[in-house]
Amino acid sequence: MRISRPWQLCPPAAARRWLAALLLAMLVGLPVPARAIDVIASFSILADLVAQVGGEQVAVSSLVGREQDGHVFQPRPSELARLRNADLVVVNGLGFEGWMTRLLQSAGYRGPVVVATEGVAPLPQPLSPSGAGREAPDPHAWQDPARVQVYVENIASALAEVDPDHAEIYRQRARRYQERLRQLDEQIAGELGTLADDRRTVVTPHAAMRYFGERYGLRFLAAQGPNAGSEPGAREIARLIQQMRASGTAVIFSESPGTPALLRQLARESGAPLAGRLYSDTLSPIDGPAASYLDLMTHNARQLREALAGTP
Ligand SMILES: [Zn+2]
Repeated sequence: MRISRPWQLCPPAAARRWLAALLLAMLVGLPVPARAIDVIASFSILADLVAQVGGEQVAVSSLVGREQDGHVFQPRPSELARLRNADLVVVNGLGFEGWMTRLLQSAGYRGPVVVATEGVAPLPQPLSPSGAGREAPDPHAWQDPARVQVYVENIASALAEVDPDHAEIYRQRARRYQERLRQLDEQIAGELGTLADDRRTVVTPHAAMRYFGERYGLRFLAAQGPNAGSEPGAREIARLIQQMRASGTAVIFSESPGTPALLRQLARESGAPLAGRLYSDTLSPIDGPAASYLDLMTHNARQLREALAGTP
């Protein structure tokens, strides 16, 4: 892994702030301030994890913003420049950011790239209802807080390597955050542990919740099949409704603002209720219910608990 870039390559806003602080320090004889490490994360959930570990030593931004789809990304020229000048890039891996390699090339970024899921045991991607398609890892590993422990470890190591002066502080923050992840995991397991066996089936638009389902014993069915955006045919819908009925009571959640027509159709035809919204691949806006990763998981668990326990 490459060590951090010379300060003259940092992005304009951060560089201006740092230069101003440096000049002020020289004028009044204060110690020279350290510049924040400039980190780019591929999507909002990862950016939050980096911010938790990096604290004030790190300026982190996300390529795919809040409420945007991380599976696809169209960069603006300003983002290419930001990427080129970054000290560290953090990606999820497991095939989530299919767009990243080409993006790094076009930006001319030559710095370190850390794959946050390095060392995480992946689940296989579900096959399409017809069984077609190849076996690939499911990238949505952040839906399991136990696996996110590994994300945090990888992020702390990468920050320590890029900015060795603050290595200890990154490790300390990582340990504190990992403790909060353990508490979150216990809390969710407690909330969902008492649900009856026939009240554990949930339909979402795309297959993003399998890690969550595996961890907490829920069964998630994807209305669109494994690929987000692919519209299922009449036979797939019929098969899905059959699966919903076979597993007792099912509830249907959206993953974005509003309710897609496909989910409304499913609710009509299956009789299962539309239960609200889960956050799968993105944080909410900062004033929303999933402003951070911990908030996102707490919100999802509560929504699931209320919908599944409260359904007649
Ligand atoms: Zn996804």
